[in-house]
Amino acid sequence: MDLRKDRIKVSVRIKPFLNCQDASTACLHIISKEPPVLLVAERAQTYVFDNIFPEDVNQESVYVDAVKPFVDYVKKGFNYTVFAYGQTGTGKTYTMGSASQKSKDSVHTGIIPRALKQLFEEVDNSNIEAKISISFSEVYNEKVFDLLLKNNKSPLPVIGFTVQGLSKKHVKSVFEAIELLETGNSNRHVGETKQNLNSSRSHGIFTVYYTTKNGGKEISGELNLVDLAGSERARKTGSRGNTFQEGVNINKGLLSIGQVISALSTKSTHIPYRQSTITSILQASLNVDNYITLIACVSAKMEDASETLQTLDFAHRAK
Ligand code: ADP
Ligand code: MG
Repeated sequence: MDLRKDRIKVSVRIKPFLNCQDASTACLHIISKEPPVLLVAERAQTYVFDNIFPEDVNQESVYVDAVKPFVDYVKKGFNYTVFAYGQTGTGKTYTMGSASQKSKDSVHTGIIPRALKQLFEEVDNSNIEAKISISFSEVYNEKVFDLLLKNNKSPLPVIGFTVQGLSKKHVKSVFEAIELLETGNSNRHVGETKQNLNSSRSHGIFTVYYTTKNGGKEISGELNLVDLAGSERARKTGSRGNTFQEGVNINKGLLSIGQVISALSTKSTHIPYRQSTITSILQASLNVDNYITLIACVSAKMEDASETLQTLDFAHRAK
């Protein structure tokens, strides 16, 4: 068994056609479940991934198949990072569960609340003693902002591979952790682009620190849940000025995540962490000793075919 390959998993999730669009015009078709193979109609090209989640998959299945087994490693002292990658509007935030959790409807509950529940489960059953803390930051224009601070206008310095002064809040329940998610979300930067009025132009990093004791020895694991900025290229979003620079920086971050994961997969000796802020600050987690899951969110609409292909190529290179 190749342990490195096993520690990096790449999944694709296809967004459902909402508003009764005609599914017969889809650009994607799942042609095999075991192994999962996706066919891109236009290019007559196939892709194999660890998981391919069809339009009608529910949040629970995505969690159980792609994320749940690895969250247990966090309890054992490993770091685990989940990235949601894709074009704006394809369901990154929905999948990650990083939006407001106003609706308590569990059918729509995404990865963040489910992972918190899993981490708190044993603690609540008082089987083990663990300390759980949260930080929530965003990388916007290559700068890091603390989302748990109000009026976080000034970016935090990054020295070496660490963000200086990022708040870490101790939480005693899933409820308290979700409250921090809400607080952080209300402090996020959003830009208005043609593609989506609330499109996020920043990467959101929600980190759960889990510390426990094993025979007197302290062990700590980190869970990074990353809702990436939209992967669509700047030209398509009709951006200018400031927003154009945002686009350049977003692409830089996304590109370097792809390069770091692919360098890890191919056992390269040089891992290009310093190419962007997000790979620098996640350096301690993005390595062969830890676990990584990339969930590529795609649209099956014919009009989105070129962005979908870009996303699939990115996800495929990561393997
Ligand atoms: P992104 O974060 O990639 O821009 P969102 O997660 O905001 O995309 O999704 C765009 C819209 O589509 C949201 O209203 C979201 O609730 C909805 N949506 C996305 N994926 C699904 C899904 N699998 N089932 C139901 N609604 C979804
Ligand atoms: Mg989003």
